[in-house]
Amino acid sequence: MAVRQVGRVYLVGAGPGDVGLLTLRAVECLRSADFVLYDYLTSPRTLDFARPDAERFRVTQLPGTHPERWRHIIAKLIEEARKGKVVVHLKGGDPLVFGRGAEEAEALRAAGVPYEIVPGVTAALAAAACTEIPLTHRAFASAVALVTGHEEPGKAGAGLDWGALANFPGTLAVYMGVTQLGHIAHELIARRMSPDTPAALVYRASTGDQRTVTAPLGELEAAVRRAGLTRPSLLLIGPAVGSRPTTSWFEERQLAGLRVVVTRPRDQALGFARRLELLGAVAYLLPAIEVREPADWGPADAAIRQLRARGYDWVVFTSANGVAGLLGRLRTLGLDGRAFSQARLAAIGPATADALREAHLITDLVPAVDARSEQLADLLSEHCRGNRVLLAQATQGREVLREHLGAIASVDVAPVYEQVSVADPAHEVFDRLRRGEIDAVTLTSPNIAAAFLAACDETVRDRFRTGPTRLVANSERLARFLGDEGYPAVVCPDPTADGLIAGLKTVMAGKKGDEVGGSVGAGRPPAS
Ligand code: SAH
Repeated sequence: MAVRQVGRVYLVGAGPGDVGLLTLRAVECLRSADFVLYDYLTSPRTLDFARPDAERFRVTQLPGTHPERWRHIIAKLIEEARKGKVVVHLKGGDPLVFGRGAEEAEALRAAGVPYEIVPGVTAALAAAACTEIPLTHRAFASAVALVTGHEEPGKAGAGLDWGALANFPGTLAVYMGVTQLGHIAHELIARRMSPDTPAALVYRASTGDQRTVTAPLGELEAAVRRAGLTRPSLLLIGPAVGSRPTTSWFEERQLAGLRVVVTRPRDQALGFARRLELLGAVAYLLPAIEVREPADWGPADAAIRQLRARGYDWVVFTSANGVAGLLGRLRTLGLDGRAFSQARLAAIGPATADALREAHLITDLVPAVDARSEQLADLLSEHCRGNRVLLAQATQGREVLREHLGAIASVDVAPVYEQVSVADPAHEVFDRLRRGEIDAVTLTSPNIAAAFLAACDETVRDRFRTGPTRLVANSERLARFLGDEGYPAVVCPDPTADGLIAGLKTVMAGKKGDEVGGSVGAGRPPAS
Protein backbone atom coordinates (compact mmCIF):
# COMPACT_ATOMS: atom_id res chain seq x y z
CA MET A 1 0.00 0.00 0.00
CA ALA A 2 1.31 3.42 -0.91
CA VAL A 3 2.20 5.54 2.07
CA ARG A 4 -0.03 8.57 1.95
CA GLN A 5 1.82 11.76 2.67
CA VAL A 6 0.40 13.93 5.41
CA GLY A 7 -0.23 17.51 4.31
CA ARG A 8 0.25 20.57 6.39
CA VAL A 9 -1.92 23.03 8.29
CA TYR A 10 -1.28 26.77 8.40
CA LEU A 11 -3.04 28.62 11.19
CA VAL A 12 -3.09 32.01 9.53
CA GLY A 13 -3.94 35.36 11.04
CA ALA A 14 -6.15 37.02 8.43
CA GLY A 15 -5.94 40.45 10.00
CA PRO A 16 -8.84 42.72 10.93
CA GLY A 17 -10.70 42.78 7.62
CA ASP A 18 -8.90 44.95 5.09
CA VAL A 19 -7.02 42.68 2.66
CA GLY A 20 -4.15 45.15 2.60
CA LEU A 21 -3.43 44.17 6.19
CA LEU A 22 -2.80 40.52 5.35
CA THR A 23 0.86 39.62 5.79
CA LEU A 24 2.93 38.46 2.82
CA ARG A 25 3.29 35.11 4.57
CA ALA A 26 -0.51 34.84 4.81
CA VAL A 27 -0.77 35.43 1.07
CA GLU A 28 1.95 32.84 0.37
CA CYS A 29 0.06 30.29 2.48
CA LEU A 30 -3.24 31.09 0.76
CA ARG A 31 -1.68 30.68 -2.68
CA SER A 32 -0.36 27.26 -1.72
CA ALA A 33 -3.61 26.06 -0.12
CA ASP A 34 -5.74 23.18 -1.40
CA PHE A 35 -8.32 23.68 1.33
CA VAL A 36 -9.24 26.94 3.09
CA LEU A 37 -11.34 26.98 6.25
CA TYR A 38 -12.65 30.42 7.23
CA ASP A 39 -15.08 32.05 9.63
CA TYR A 40 -17.45 35.00 9.76
CA LEU A 41 -14.70 37.51 10.56
CA THR A 42 -12.89 36.69 7.30
CA SER A 43 -13.51 39.20 4.52
CA PRO A 44 -14.58 37.40 1.32
CA ARG A 45 -11.91 39.47 -0.44
CA THR A 46 -9.24 37.57 1.49
CA LEU A 47 -10.34 34.38 -0.24
CA ASP A 48 -9.49 35.97 -3.60
CA PHE A 49 -5.86 35.19 -2.80
CA ALA A 50 -6.51 31.46 -2.80
CA ARG A 51 -6.22 29.57 -6.08
CA PRO A 52 -9.53 29.35 -7.94
CA ASP A 53 -9.44 25.55 -7.62
CA ALA A 54 -8.83 25.57 -3.85
CA GLU A 55 -11.75 24.28 -1.83
CA ARG A 56 -13.33 26.98 0.35
CA PHE A 57 -15.12 25.84 3.47
CA ARG A 58 -17.03 28.08 5.87
CA VAL A 59 -16.86 27.15 9.54
CA THR A 60 -20.66 27.40 9.75
CA GLN A 61 -20.93 24.49 7.31
CA LEU A 62 -19.78 22.32 10.22
CA PRO A 63 -22.37 21.06 12.69
CA GLY A 64 -22.99 22.46 16.17
CA THR A 65 -22.74 25.92 17.63
CA HIS A 66 -19.79 27.70 19.14
CA PRO A 67 -18.08 25.38 21.68
CA GLU A 68 -18.95 22.01 20.07
CA ARG A 69 -18.29 23.30 16.59
CA TRP A 70 -14.72 23.95 17.55
CA ARG A 71 -14.10 20.19 17.94
CA HIS A 72 -15.44 19.69 14.44
CA ILE A 73 -13.06 22.37 13.17
CA ILE A 74 -10.06 20.53 14.60
CA ALA A 75 -11.32 17.23 13.20
CA LYS A 76 -11.78 18.82 9.77
CA LEU A 77 -8.27 20.31 9.75
CA ILE A 78 -6.77 16.93 10.64
CA GLU A 79 -8.96 15.03 8.18
CA GLU A 80 -8.06 17.27 5.23
CA ALA A 81 -4.34 17.33 6.12
CA ARG A 82 -4.33 13.53 6.30
CA LYS A 83 -5.56 13.47 2.70
CA GLY A 84 -2.24 15.10 1.87
CA LYS A 85 -3.66 18.58 1.41
CA VAL A 86 -2.19 21.95 2.24
CA VAL A 87 -4.79 23.37 4.62
CA VAL A 88 -5.16 26.99 5.66
CA HIS A 89 -7.28 27.93 8.65
CA LEU A 90 -7.89 31.64 8.30
CA LYS A 91 -8.47 33.26 11.63
CA GLY A 92 -9.57 36.86 12.13
CA GLY A 93 -6.82 39.11 13.49
CA ASP A 94 -4.08 37.06 15.11
CA PRO A 95 -4.49 33.32 15.79
CA LEU A 96 -3.11 33.59 19.31
CA VAL A 97 -5.19 36.56 20.47
CA PHE A 98 -8.56 35.15 21.55
CA GLY A 99 -8.32 32.84 18.58
CA ARG A 100 -7.80 29.42 20.14
CA GLY A 101 -4.72 29.05 17.94
CA ALA A 102 -2.71 27.42 20.71
CA GLU A 103 -5.37 24.78 21.32
CA GLU A 104 -5.53 24.00 17.61
CA ALA A 105 -1.76 23.72 17.44
CA GLU A 106 -1.77 21.35 20.41
CA ALA A 107 -4.39 19.12 18.78
CA LEU A 108 -2.46 19.09 15.49
CA ARG A 109 0.76 18.19 17.30
CA ALA A 110 -1.01 15.35 19.11
CA ALA A 111 -2.35 14.09 15.77
CA GLY A 112 1.11 14.22 14.19
CA VAL A 113 0.06 16.82 11.60
CA PRO A 114 2.77 19.36 10.74
CA TYR A 115 1.65 22.96 11.20
CA GLU A 116 2.81 26.54 11.14
CA ILE A 117 1.38 29.63 12.83
CA VAL A 118 1.31 32.92 10.93
CA PRO A 119 0.71 36.04 13.03
CA GLY A 120 -1.83 38.62 11.93
CA VAL A 121 -2.73 42.24 12.69
CA THR A 122 -4.95 41.97 15.72
CA ALA A 123 -8.12 44.07 16.02
CA ALA A 124 -6.71 46.39 18.70
CA LEU A 125 -3.83 47.47 16.45
CA ALA A 126 -6.14 48.06 13.50
CA ALA A 127 -8.67 49.97 15.60
CA ALA A 128 -5.89 52.19 16.95
CA ALA A 129 -4.42 52.99 13.52
CA CYS A 130 -7.74 53.62 11.84
CA THR A 131 -9.19 55.88 14.55
CA GLU A 132 -5.89 57.51 15.59
CA ILE A 133 -6.40 56.39 19.17
CA PRO A 134 -2.93 55.64 20.52
CA LEU A 135 -2.77 52.45 22.60
CA THR A 136 0.21 53.80 24.48
CA HIS A 137 0.99 57.44 25.03
CA ARG A 138 4.00 59.07 26.66
CA ALA A 139 1.78 61.19 28.91
CA PHE A 140 -1.23 58.95 29.58
CA ALA A 141 -0.64 55.26 28.96
CA SER A 142 2.46 53.21 29.65
CA ALA A 143 0.82 49.82 29.09
CA VAL A 144 -1.89 48.20 27.04
CA ALA A 145 -3.97 45.17 28.00
CA LEU A 146 -5.86 42.86 25.65
CA VAL A 147 -8.92 41.79 27.58
CA THR A 148 -11.83 39.49 26.80
CA GLY A 149 -15.26 40.92 27.47
CA HIS A 150 -16.83 37.53 27.14
CA GLU A 151 -15.52 35.16 29.76
CA GLU A 152 -15.93 31.46 29.15
CA PRO A 153 -18.52 30.16 31.64
CA GLY A 154 -16.89 27.88 34.21
CA LYS A 155 -13.37 29.07 33.36
CA ALA A 156 -10.87 27.95 35.98
CA GLY A 157 -9.74 30.65 38.39
CA ALA A 158 -11.57 33.78 39.32
CA GLY A 159 -11.81 35.13 35.78
CA LEU A 160 -11.16 38.80 35.17
CA ASP A 161 -9.67 40.79 38.02
CA TRP A 162 -11.82 43.90 37.62
CA GLY A 163 -9.98 45.66 40.43
CA ALA A 164 -6.63 45.28 38.64
CA LEU A 165 -8.18 46.38 35.34
CA ALA A 166 -9.80 49.44 36.93
CA ASN A 167 -6.35 50.52 38.15
CA PHE A 168 -4.48 49.55 34.98
CA PRO A 169 -1.91 52.22 34.08
CA GLY A 170 -2.85 52.44 30.42
CA THR A 171 -5.33 51.41 27.76
CA LEU A 172 -7.75 48.48 27.99
CA ALA A 173 -8.57 46.91 24.62
CA VAL A 174 -11.64 44.77 25.23
CA TYR A 175 -12.49 42.11 22.64
CA MET A 176 -15.96 40.54 22.36
CA GLY A 177 -17.29 43.19 24.72
CA VAL A 178 -20.13 44.87 22.87
CA THR A 179 -23.02 42.85 24.31
CA GLN A 180 -21.50 43.08 27.81
CA LEU A 181 -20.65 46.75 27.51
CA GLY A 182 -22.95 47.92 30.32
CA HIS A 183 -21.70 45.19 32.63
CA ILE A 184 -18.04 45.94 31.88
CA ALA A 185 -18.47 49.67 32.51
CA HIS A 186 -20.36 48.92 35.72
CA GLU A 187 -17.65 46.57 37.05
CA LEU A 188 -14.87 49.08 36.31
CA ILE A 189 -16.72 52.08 37.76
CA ALA A 190 -17.68 50.04 40.86
CA ARG A 191 -13.91 49.59 41.42
CA ARG A 192 -13.27 53.31 41.22
CA MET A 193 -12.41 53.81 37.60
CA SER A 194 -13.77 57.27 36.86
CA PRO A 195 -17.00 57.27 34.80
CA ASP A 196 -15.38 60.15 32.91
CA THR A 197 -12.57 57.93 31.60
CA PRO A 198 -12.43 58.39 27.82
CA ALA A 199 -13.76 55.33 25.97
CA ALA A 200 -14.55 54.32 22.40
CA LEU A 201 -16.21 51.49 20.57
CA VAL A 202 -14.87 50.74 17.09
CA TYR A 203 -17.04 48.65 14.79
CA ARG A 204 -15.34 46.67 11.97
CA ALA A 205 -12.02 48.48 12.26
CA SER A 206 -10.01 48.79 9.01
CA THR A 207 -12.99 48.13 6.72
CA GLY A 208 -15.14 50.61 4.81
CA ASP A 209 -17.90 49.81 7.32
CA GLN A 210 -15.83 51.09 10.23
CA ARG A 211 -17.75 53.28 12.67
CA THR A 212 -16.59 54.75 15.95
CA VAL A 213 -18.52 55.97 18.95
CA THR A 214 -16.61 57.90 21.61
CA ALA A 215 -18.00 58.86 25.02
CA PRO A 216 -17.00 58.91 28.69
CA LEU A 217 -17.11 55.33 30.03
CA GLY A 218 -20.26 55.99 32.05
CA GLU A 219 -22.16 57.09 28.94
CA LEU A 220 -20.71 54.81 26.29
CA GLU A 221 -23.31 52.07 26.45
CA ALA A 222 -26.19 54.45 25.79
CA ALA A 223 -24.26 56.12 22.94
CA VAL A 224 -23.45 52.74 21.35
CA ARG A 225 -27.06 51.55 21.55
CA ARG A 226 -28.22 54.81 19.95
CA ALA A 227 -25.78 54.33 17.11
CA GLY A 228 -26.88 50.69 16.74
CA LEU A 229 -23.37 49.23 16.68
CA THR A 230 -23.05 45.47 17.14
CA ARG A 231 -20.39 42.78 16.66
CA PRO A 232 -17.57 42.76 15.78
CA SER A 233 -16.50 45.78 17.76
CA LEU A 234 -13.55 46.59 19.91
CA LEU A 235 -13.83 48.58 23.11
CA LEU A 236 -10.98 50.92 24.05
CA ILE A 237 -10.86 52.47 27.53
CA GLY A 238 -8.28 54.76 29.08
CA PRO A 239 -6.92 58.32 29.17
CA ALA A 240 -5.10 57.90 25.83
CA VAL A 241 -8.47 57.51 24.11
CA GLY A 242 -9.12 61.14 24.99
CA SER A 243 -6.26 62.29 22.79
CA ARG A 244 -8.11 61.13 19.69
CA PRO A 245 -8.64 63.81 17.04
CA THR A 246 -12.31 64.43 16.19
CA THR A 247 -11.92 62.50 12.97
CA SER A 248 -9.21 60.27 11.49
CA TRP A 249 -7.33 59.96 8.21
CA PHE A 250 -9.30 56.77 7.68
CA GLU A 251 -12.74 58.27 8.12
CA GLU A 252 -11.86 61.27 5.94
CA ARG A 253 -11.15 59.21 2.82
CA GLN A 254 -13.11 60.36 -0.22
CA LEU A 255 -15.43 57.36 -0.48
CA ALA A 256 -15.47 56.48 3.24
CA GLY A 257 -18.29 54.08 4.01
CA LEU A 258 -19.69 53.96 0.46
CA ARG A 259 -20.93 50.44 -0.34
CA VAL A 260 -20.34 49.61 -3.97
CA VAL A 261 -21.16 46.52 -6.01
CA VAL A 262 -18.73 45.86 -8.87
CA THR A 263 -20.22 43.78 -11.68
CA ARG A 264 -17.25 43.35 -14.03
CA PRO A 265 -15.70 39.92 -14.58
CA ARG A 266 -13.76 38.93 -11.47
CA ASP A 267 -10.20 39.24 -12.81
CA GLN A 268 -10.94 42.71 -14.18
CA ALA A 269 -12.76 43.75 -11.00
CA LEU A 270 -10.04 43.00 -8.45
CA GLY A 271 -7.78 45.96 -9.22
CA PHE A 272 -10.72 48.36 -9.39
CA ALA A 273 -12.20 47.00 -6.14
CA ARG A 274 -8.88 47.60 -4.42
CA ARG A 275 -8.80 51.20 -5.62
CA LEU A 276 -12.27 51.69 -4.18
CA GLU A 277 -11.21 50.17 -0.87
CA LEU A 278 -8.20 52.45 -0.63
CA LEU A 279 -10.59 55.39 -1.07
CA GLY A 280 -12.60 54.07 1.89
CA ALA A 281 -15.41 52.21 0.12
CA VAL A 282 -16.61 48.67 0.77
CA ALA A 283 -16.42 46.81 -2.53
CA TYR A 284 -18.62 43.79 -3.16
CA LEU A 285 -17.67 41.70 -6.18
CA LEU A 286 -20.67 40.36 -8.05
CA PRO A 287 -19.45 39.39 -11.51
CA ALA A 288 -22.38 39.55 -13.94
CA ILE A 289 -20.49 38.02 -16.84
CA GLU A 290 -17.48 35.84 -17.33
CA VAL A 291 -15.13 35.90 -20.29
CA ARG A 292 -14.53 32.47 -21.80
CA GLU A 293 -13.01 30.95 -24.89
CA PRO A 294 -15.44 30.74 -27.82
CA ALA A 295 -17.10 27.35 -28.17
CA ASP A 296 -15.85 27.19 -31.76
CA TRP A 297 -12.40 28.46 -32.71
CA GLY A 298 -12.98 27.62 -36.40
CA PRO A 299 -13.78 31.14 -37.68
CA ALA A 300 -10.99 32.77 -35.64
CA ASP A 301 -8.45 30.17 -36.81
CA ALA A 302 -9.43 30.77 -40.42
CA ALA A 303 -8.83 34.51 -39.89
CA ILE A 304 -5.48 33.81 -38.23
CA ARG A 305 -4.41 31.78 -41.28
CA GLN A 306 -5.30 34.76 -43.49
CA LEU A 307 -3.44 37.08 -41.16
CA ARG A 308 -0.26 35.02 -41.46
CA ALA A 309 -0.61 35.08 -45.23
CA ARG A 310 -0.57 38.89 -45.03
CA GLY A 311 -4.27 38.89 -45.76
CA TYR A 312 -5.15 41.97 -43.64
CA ASP A 313 -4.08 45.62 -43.68
CA TRP A 314 -5.70 46.39 -40.32
CA VAL A 315 -6.45 44.39 -37.19
CA VAL A 316 -8.96 46.18 -34.95
CA PHE A 317 -9.42 45.50 -31.23
CA THR A 318 -12.55 46.71 -29.45
CA SER A 319 -11.57 45.58 -25.95
CA ALA A 320 -8.72 44.27 -23.84
CA ASN A 321 -10.56 40.93 -23.86
CA GLY A 322 -10.21 40.89 -27.65
CA VAL A 323 -6.45 41.43 -27.30
CA ALA A 324 -6.14 38.63 -24.72
CA GLY A 325 -8.35 36.34 -26.82
CA LEU A 326 -6.49 36.74 -30.11
CA LEU A 327 -3.00 36.70 -28.59
CA GLY A 328 -3.92 33.70 -26.43
CA ARG A 329 -5.09 31.82 -29.51
CA LEU A 330 -1.88 32.69 -31.37
CA ARG A 331 0.10 31.26 -28.46
CA THR A 332 -1.97 28.06 -28.44
CA LEU A 333 -1.26 27.68 -32.16
CA GLY A 334 2.48 28.10 -31.52
CA LEU A 335 2.54 31.60 -33.06
CA ASP A 336 3.56 35.03 -31.79
CA GLY A 337 3.34 38.73 -32.65
CA ARG A 338 5.04 38.13 -36.01
CA ALA A 339 1.69 36.82 -37.24
CA PHE A 340 0.67 40.49 -37.58
CA SER A 341 3.66 41.19 -39.86
CA GLN A 342 2.87 44.43 -41.71
CA ALA A 343 -0.76 44.78 -40.55
CA ARG A 344 -1.57 48.02 -38.75
CA LEU A 345 -3.28 47.83 -35.37
CA ALA A 346 -6.21 49.88 -34.09
CA ALA A 347 -7.64 49.97 -30.58
CA ILE A 348 -10.89 51.43 -29.29
CA GLY A 349 -9.19 53.31 -26.46
CA PRO A 350 -6.12 53.66 -24.25
CA ALA A 351 -6.93 50.62 -22.05
CA THR A 352 -7.05 48.36 -25.10
CA ALA A 353 -3.88 49.94 -26.49
CA ASP A 354 -2.22 49.29 -23.12
CA ALA A 355 -3.13 45.61 -23.38
CA LEU A 356 -1.41 45.50 -26.79
CA ARG A 357 1.63 47.32 -25.44
CA GLU A 358 1.93 44.71 -22.66
CA ALA A 359 2.42 42.23 -25.50
CA HIS A 360 5.01 44.54 -27.12
CA LEU A 361 2.66 45.58 -29.89
CA ILE A 362 2.34 49.25 -30.76
CA THR A 363 -1.08 50.56 -31.75
CA ASP A 364 -1.14 52.62 -34.94
CA LEU A 365 -4.53 54.21 -34.36
CA VAL A 366 -6.24 54.88 -31.07
CA PRO A 367 -8.70 57.59 -30.00
CA ALA A 368 -7.44 59.76 -27.14
CA VAL A 369 -10.13 58.54 -24.74
CA ASP A 370 -12.05 55.27 -24.76
CA ALA A 371 -14.41 55.65 -27.69
CA ARG A 372 -17.57 53.96 -28.81
CA SER A 373 -17.57 51.71 -31.85
CA GLU A 374 -19.24 54.49 -33.89
CA GLN A 375 -16.39 56.91 -33.21
CA LEU A 376 -13.74 54.32 -33.91
CA ALA A 377 -15.50 53.51 -37.19
CA ASP A 378 -15.42 57.21 -38.18
CA LEU A 379 -11.76 57.49 -37.35
CA LEU A 380 -10.83 54.27 -39.12
CA SER A 381 -12.82 55.03 -42.23
CA GLU A 382 -10.39 57.86 -42.99
CA HIS A 383 -7.58 55.28 -43.16
CA CYS A 384 -8.90 51.96 -44.39
CA ARG A 385 -10.73 52.70 -47.62
CA GLY A 386 -10.34 49.68 -49.90
CA ASN A 387 -8.37 47.82 -47.23
CA ARG A 388 -8.80 44.36 -45.77
CA VAL A 389 -9.81 44.67 -42.09
CA LEU A 390 -9.97 42.06 -39.34
CA LEU A 391 -12.09 42.73 -36.23
CA ALA A 392 -11.11 40.77 -33.12
CA GLN A 393 -14.21 40.76 -30.94
CA ALA A 394 -16.70 38.76 -28.87
CA THR A 395 -18.76 35.99 -30.45
CA GLN A 396 -21.85 38.10 -29.84
CA GLY A 397 -20.10 41.47 -30.29
CA ARG A 398 -21.76 44.57 -31.66
CA GLU A 399 -22.14 44.77 -35.44
CA VAL A 400 -21.52 48.53 -35.61
CA LEU A 401 -17.94 48.39 -36.88
CA ARG A 402 -18.59 45.68 -39.42
CA GLU A 403 -21.59 47.60 -40.77
CA HIS A 404 -19.88 51.00 -40.87
CA LEU A 405 -16.62 49.79 -42.37
CA GLY A 406 -18.21 47.15 -44.59
CA ALA A 407 -19.30 49.90 -46.99
CA ILE A 408 -15.72 51.00 -47.73
CA ALA A 409 -13.51 48.04 -46.85
CA SER A 410 -13.52 44.26 -46.83
CA VAL A 411 -14.22 43.27 -43.23
CA ASP A 412 -13.83 39.89 -41.48
CA VAL A 413 -14.63 39.09 -37.88
CA ALA A 414 -12.52 36.83 -35.64
CA PRO A 415 -14.65 35.82 -32.64
CA VAL A 416 -11.96 35.38 -29.99
CA TYR A 417 -13.92 35.34 -26.74
CA GLU A 418 -17.38 34.77 -25.44
CA GLN A 419 -19.24 36.59 -22.67
CA VAL A 420 -21.35 34.32 -20.52
CA SER A 421 -23.87 35.59 -17.99
CA VAL A 422 -22.96 34.33 -14.51
CA ALA A 423 -24.96 36.66 -12.21
CA ASP A 424 -26.31 34.35 -9.53
CA PRO A 425 -29.59 35.51 -7.89
CA ALA A 426 -28.65 33.43 -4.82
CA HIS A 427 -25.46 35.47 -4.24
CA GLU A 428 -25.49 37.10 -0.78
CA VAL A 429 -24.91 40.53 -2.34
CA PHE A 430 -28.50 40.40 -3.67
CA ASP A 431 -29.70 40.13 -0.04
CA ARG A 432 -27.74 43.29 0.75
CA LEU A 433 -29.31 45.01 -2.25
CA ARG A 434 -32.78 43.91 -1.12
CA ARG A 435 -32.15 45.25 2.37
CA GLY A 436 -31.13 48.62 0.91
CA GLU A 437 -27.56 48.40 2.22
CA ILE A 438 -25.83 49.16 -1.08
CA ASP A 439 -25.16 52.74 -2.22
CA ALA A 440 -24.05 52.11 -5.80
CA VAL A 441 -23.70 49.46 -8.50
CA THR A 442 -21.10 50.10 -11.20
CA LEU A 443 -22.06 48.96 -14.69
CA THR A 444 -19.49 49.03 -17.46
CA SER A 445 -21.13 47.58 -20.56
CA PRO A 446 -24.62 46.85 -21.90
CA ASN A 447 -23.89 43.11 -21.69
CA ILE A 448 -22.95 43.41 -18.04
CA ALA A 449 -25.98 45.60 -17.32
CA ALA A 450 -28.36 43.20 -19.04
CA ALA A 451 -26.92 40.14 -17.26
CA PHE A 452 -26.99 41.93 -13.90
CA LEU A 453 -30.55 43.24 -14.25
CA ALA A 454 -31.79 39.82 -15.35
CA ALA A 455 -30.72 38.45 -11.96
CA CYS A 456 -32.47 41.22 -9.95
CA ASP A 457 -35.93 40.61 -8.49
CA GLU A 458 -38.60 43.33 -8.16
CA THR A 459 -37.51 44.37 -4.65
CA VAL A 460 -33.97 44.96 -5.87
CA ARG A 461 -35.19 46.80 -8.98
CA ASP A 462 -37.21 49.12 -6.74
CA ARG A 463 -34.03 50.06 -4.93
CA PHE A 464 -32.66 51.38 -8.23
CA ARG A 465 -35.88 53.20 -9.10
CA THR A 466 -36.58 54.87 -5.76
CA GLY A 467 -33.34 54.54 -3.82
CA PRO A 468 -31.19 54.10 -1.93
CA THR A 469 -29.07 52.34 -4.56
CA ARG A 470 -27.71 54.33 -7.52
CA LEU A 471 -26.75 52.68 -10.78
CA VAL A 472 -23.50 54.15 -12.11
CA ALA A 473 -23.06 53.87 -15.88
CA ASN A 474 -19.69 54.38 -17.54
CA SER A 475 -21.13 55.91 -20.73
CA GLU A 476 -24.04 57.98 -22.02
CA ARG A 477 -25.08 55.08 -24.21
CA LEU A 478 -25.30 52.72 -21.26
CA ALA A 479 -27.18 55.33 -19.22
CA ARG A 480 -29.69 55.64 -22.09
CA PHE A 481 -30.06 51.85 -22.19
CA LEU A 482 -30.77 51.89 -18.44
CA GLY A 483 -33.14 54.82 -18.83
CA ASP A 484 -35.07 52.87 -21.49
CA GLU A 485 -35.38 50.02 -19.00
CA GLY A 486 -36.82 52.48 -16.47
CA TYR A 487 -33.77 53.05 -14.27
CA PRO A 488 -32.16 56.42 -13.61
CA ALA A 489 -28.35 56.29 -13.65
CA VAL A 490 -25.38 58.43 -12.72
CA VAL A 491 -23.31 58.96 -15.88
CA CYS A 492 -19.52 59.01 -15.56
CA PRO A 493 -17.47 61.68 -17.33
CA ASP A 494 -15.48 59.05 -19.24
CA PRO A 495 -15.58 55.26 -19.50
CA THR A 496 -12.36 54.58 -17.55
CA ALA A 497 -11.77 53.54 -13.93
CA ASP A 498 -11.09 57.22 -13.12
CA GLY A 499 -14.41 58.13 -14.71
CA LEU A 500 -16.25 55.55 -12.60
CA ILE A 501 -14.62 56.87 -9.45
CA ALA A 502 -15.73 60.38 -10.38
CA GLY A 503 -19.28 59.00 -10.75
CA LEU A 504 -19.03 57.37 -7.33
CA LYS A 505 -17.91 60.66 -5.81
CA THR A 506 -21.19 62.12 -7.07
CA VAL A 507 -23.06 59.31 -5.31
CA MET A 508 -21.00 59.99 -2.17
CA ALA A 509 -21.88 63.70 -2.27
CA GLY A 510 -25.57 62.79 -2.57
CA LYS A 511 -25.32 60.39 0.35
CA LYS A 512 -23.65 62.98 2.55
CA GLY A 513 -26.35 65.47 1.59
CA ASP A 514 -29.04 62.97 2.63
CA GLU A 515 -27.34 62.37 5.96
CA VAL A 516 -27.10 66.05 6.75
CA GLY A 517 -30.75 66.42 5.79
CA GLY A 518 -31.77 63.45 7.92
CA SER A 519 -29.98 62.33 11.04
CA VAL A 520 -26.22 62.63 10.91
CA GLY A 521 -24.41 59.31 10.84
CA ALA A 522 -27.59 57.49 9.79
CA GLY A 523 -27.28 54.30 7.80
CA ARG A 524 -27.51 51.16 9.82
CA PRO A 525 -24.43 49.00 9.91
CA PRO A 526 -25.16 46.05 7.62
CA ALA A 527 -25.99 42.64 9.01
CA SER A 528 -22.79 40.61 9.05
N1 SAH B 1 -8.12 36.83 16.91
C1 SAH B 1 -8.87 38.05 16.76
C2 SAH B 1 -9.89 38.21 17.85
C3 SAH B 1 -10.98 37.18 17.80
S1 SAH B 1 -12.20 37.43 19.02
C4 SAH B 1 -7.90 39.23 16.71
O1 SAH B 1 -6.72 39.06 16.96
O2 SAH B 1 -8.33 40.33 16.38
C5 SAH B 1 -13.43 38.32 18.11
C6 SAH B 1 -13.47 39.76 18.56
O3 SAH B 1 -12.40 40.47 17.99
C7 SAH B 1 -14.70 40.51 18.14
O4 SAH B 1 -15.78 40.26 18.99
C8 SAH B 1 -14.21 41.93 18.26
O5 SAH B 1 -14.19 42.35 19.61
C9 SAH B 1 -12.78 41.81 17.81
N2 SAH B 1 -12.60 42.15 16.38
C10 SAH B 1 -12.17 41.35 15.41
N3 SAH B 1 -12.07 42.02 14.23
C11 SAH B 1 -12.45 43.29 14.53
C12 SAH B 1 -12.56 44.49 13.76
N4 SAH B 1 -12.25 44.51 12.45
N5 SAH B 1 -12.97 45.60 14.38
C13 SAH B 1 -13.28 45.61 15.69
N6 SAH B 1 -13.20 44.51 16.45
C14 SAH B 1 -12.79 43.37 15.88
